[in-house]
Amino acid sequence: MLVFKQIKKLRQHLDADDQRFLSIGFVPTMGALHEGHLQLMRKAKNENDLLIVSIFVNPIQFNNPEDLQKYPRTYDEDAQMLESVGCDVLFYPSVDEMYPEPEIIHYDFGLLAETMEGSARPGHFDGVAIVVRKLFDIVKPHRAYFGEKDFQQLAIIKELVRRNRIPVNIIPCPIVRERDGLAMSSRNARLTAKERAVAPKIYETLQDAVGLFPTNSPAQMKAWVRDRFQRVPAFQIDYVEIADDKMLQPLQGWSSAKGAILFVAIYLGQVRLIDNIRIY
Ligand code: AMP
Repeated sequence: MLVFKQIKKLRQHLDADDQRFLSIGFVPTMGALHEGHLQLMRKAKNENDLLIVSIFVNPIQFNNPEDLQKYPRTYDEDAQMLESVGCDVLFYPSVDEMYPEPEIIHYDFGLLAETMEGSARPGHFDGVAIVVRKLFDIVKPHRAYFGEKDFQQLAIIKELVRRNRIPVNIIPCPIVRERDGLAMSSRNARLTAKERAVAPKIYETLQDAVGLFPTNSPAQMKAWVRDRFQRVPAFQIDYVEIADDKMLQPLQGWSSAKGAILFVAIYLGQVRLIDNIRIY
């Protein structure tokens, strides 16, 4: 695996005669890799000539300085895992390399960014859009792979690509879970043993909630989920929402025209975890 920290060096490599006609599958990450990331990478490796991964803990998408500071950084383990999936190129830039000067772009994603992660984390999606656009510009991938764990982020990226006519195919990938159902996340490493023990109740609750469809309304289902979460003393609810799968707008009733997804964000101590499940 080749590792590039500089944009210029990466471009020189990719523009060389023996590389420039190869198809590129790209997986942007913030490192602290786990099986969820690796599944995206295996798919990307299978579907393209080259697998390029980036590791960049993007400061401007964090609205909480402590979350940024405590974000796990495990470069040596990450590099080994990347080798194990046959990663061809790792792009591992510094903050200065990515942002030689401050970036202040405000994207208006309209309704898409107004709910859930958009309202709970002001500025978050601007930070995501800025970095992803920049990475696409640098790597120029044919296909880019994103996890449905961050479902709203995926919708925002599709919109970013559509609006700016960026020539890349966005490939959604299903959520990868631990054996006990907890959605894999780099942040899981920050849970205490006690918190880790109750964390699977997030997904258990989501699965049970889907069983309430269609006899219960979205409002009833949400109330039921909140009630179940409130019984776990370690859980602090950030949001519970049921939204359509296109515009991510809260559903008042079960619409047959759109798919519905149940989304949650929960604090376990200092650690904020998100998850979602398709209702239909
Ligand atoms: P991150 O390093 O958290 O920014 O994630 C990088 C990519 O991996 C994003 O597209 C995430 O949606 C995806 N990802 C993270 N965790 C999972 C998971 N458990 N299942 C599927 N995709 C995931």
